[in-house]
Formats: sequence, structure tokens, C-alpha cells
Amino acid sequence: MRVDVAVLRRDFPIFEAQPAPFHYLDSAATAQICRPALEALCRFEGKARANVKRGVYRLAEAATRAFEEARRQVARLLGGVDPAEVVFTAGTTLALNLAAHGLSPRLGPGRRVLVSVLEHHSNLVPWQLACARTGAELVAVPATADGRLDHEALERLLDSRVAVVALTHASNVTGAVSDVARVARAVRAVGAVLVVDGAQRIPHGPVDVRRLGCDLYAFSGHKAYGATGAGVLWGRRELLEPFPPFLGGGEMITRVTLAHSSYREPPHRFEAGTPPIGPVLALGAAARWMMAQDWQALRAHEEALTRRLLAGLAAMRDVRILGPTDVGERIGVVAFTLESHHPHDICQLLDERGVCTRGGHHCAQPLMDHFGIEASVRASLAPYNDEADVDALLEGLETVRRILG
Ligand code: PLP
Repeated sequence: MRVDVAVLRRDFPIFEAQPAPFHYLDSAATAQICRPALEALCRFEGKARANVKRGVYRLAEAATRAFEEARRQVARLLGGVDPAEVVFTAGTTLALNLAAHGLSPRLGPGRRVLVSVLEHHSNLVPWQLACARTGAELVAVPATADGRLDHEALERLLDSRVAVVALTHASNVTGAVSDVARVARAVRAVGAVLVVDGAQRIPHGPVDVRRLGCDLYAFSGHKAYGATGAGVLWGRRELLEPFPPFLGGGEMITRVTLAHSSYREPPHRFEAGTPPIGPVLALGAAARWMMAQDWQALRAHEEALTRRLLAGLAAMRDVRILGPTDVGERIGVVAFTLESHHPHDICQLLDERGVCTRGGHHCAQPLMDHFGIEASVRASLAPYNDEADVDALLEGLETVRRILG
């Protein structure tokens, strides 16, 4: 079925609020919030605000029920997992730091953590810190020339020394989607744990984490049509259970004396203090919104737009596309350079035409090194984009070239 973007945009209040022209092509940084998520956030903060997991009056109990319902919605989005396996965090970054902390007891001298060259710094720096703390060795899995995970190289690196493999599901620069199911089979064969950074993949449709076969999966609400401030670490129950506490504080304990504390079961052990309640409720509403969409149609729509964008860029002189050109292997996140013009100059000139793009290293400096560049421009698509957005970018780039020479 064809996607009616005008109808879909009614679910996104930003399109009523922003003056035309407005071509939002930075959803990989932050997607726009969908109306049900915004309403859930506003309803909670304006009409139903109380802390969760503690009060015994009705308002507080209702807040706790809504919070746990959000957990159930996220569990559905991840393929119908056990809600007790869904830990709410502040976002992907905190989720991956929690994963690295929780898995640290498995690390030590002689043990290895594999990360790919494609990783966002959020899925690299926490492992660098964990390796420095424990004496484990961090080993890089190379990328192919067109910015995909080198699956064969990864499989060659897998042996009994490997304790953890941490990979992005979809690159926030090249858009390349890794074959997580294939990786999971190989990782399981050597008894290692597979951590997947799903920040860029989740906004493109629900994911069945059990079918993928990974062990931990992280994502952010604000990239998945929710509010800023909440994210998720999903983990297999048997893996999360022995994780040591991460942040200490209220609500993650069973008993505290001046000398000692005992801790609750997951997920509560990892949700110390007052959680980001409103953003979590928004995330639950966004997950419900996502589950109600026809992702087959949205995927076809995104592929058509990505094809149009890639073809338009490929036809331009001195444009270098960083990523695979086969739309079947990628999401609509397209990074590129234009001659030697600085990405920030390009983005600013595009902004004058109402085109919002991102310029920089995209928190993926090892990948920039791989391509031998400092930075790039990135255009990223979401279901609410249409041909006019893509064409505005391509026309804008022609203008940029005229202005910058
Ligand atoms: N991982 C990937 C692949 C990302 O693209 C991002 C953000 O751009 C992150 C992790 C970090 O997400 P957050 O800043 O929401 O914690």
C-alpha cells in the first residue's frame, strides 16, 4: 500500500508548528515526536503527575501502572519479550554503559571485546573503559570499503578468548544494516555475549530480539518517535540477573543498613532514583504508535526515497556517498561529502532553504578515519519524509555548489 505522507504527518505536531519550507532530514539524530507520545508526556506532567514505585495514594498508583504499561508496550515492540527484561534508561548511551558495566565481571586479562569500526562512540567508549578497568583487550572488527560490517572478518576473529561482541544494528553514518542473526549464531558458538546497539534500527520498524538471537539490545526513545530523556536496555533475563548494580540509590534496593545494601531483581535494580517518568510514558505511547503502523508499506516508502536520494547524489559531480548503494542492505541514513566543502558550511546553506541536515563526524570518528575524512553531511529519512524533502536537498546542494564554488 502507498504511504499517504500528508495523512501520516497529522500524527506529528511539528509539521503544523514549523513554517514552510520545512524539510526535516535529521531523524537519525532525533526523530520528531508522534502525537500520542506528546500527549502522554503532557497528560502526565500536566494532569497526572506523581512519582512511581513508591506512593500508595491513587494518583501515585496510577503513575506506577502507566509506567509499567509503557514497559509492556516496549516489550511488544521488541517482539513480545518478557517486560521484566526491559530496563528503562536515559537513552542508548546509558543503556550501553550499563551493559558494559554489567558484563565487566566476564572480562579480564586474556579476554576480548570485539567492537566494529562502524560504532557510534556510545558503543565504543564504554567498552574502552571496561577493558581499561578489567585488563581485557579491545579488538576492532573492520568495515568494508563501502561502510558495512565485514562479517567474514568478524567470524575469523571469533574464538574462545572473546567474551563480548558489541555491534550496531544499523550504522548512523552509512545506514548499513548488519546481519545480526548471522552474527548471533557465530557469537553463540564461541560462548560469547552479543550486545546490539539498536538506536538507528528501531525507528525503521519493530524488532524481534529473540529471533535475532542477540543477548542485549539498546535504543533511545527520542529516535523512535518518543520524547528525549528515556531509552531502553533489553536483556535476556538469565544474563541481566547476575549484573551487579550500576547506579546506586532509591528504589533499586530491598534493604539498606548504614553498612550494607541488598538489591532488587532486574529491571528495578538498574532503575535507581526517580526515572524519567514522562519520557518513559511517551516512549510507551510511541511504541504503541509504531506497532499500529504498516511497516511493509513504510519500508517500501523509505526504500523508494533512499533510492531517489542515492541516485540524485550519484548524479552530482564530486559527491562521495559513504555507504552501500543497495537499498536492500541499508536504512535511509545517507552520509556524503561534496568536493572539499566543509559539512558545516553545506548544512548552514541548506538550512537557509529549510533543509535540516547534520554535518560533522556523527560521533563515529573511527569510521571517519576509515573513510579518510574528518566529517560529512548526513541526511536521514523517517516515514514522514517525502519526495519533496529529497528534492529540496538535492536542489539545495546545487545551490551550495554555486555559492561555495
Ligand atoms: N548509537 C547510535 C548508532 C546512535 O546513532 C546514537 C545517537 O545518535 C547513539 C548510539 C546514542 O544515542 P543517545 O544519544 O540517544 O544516547
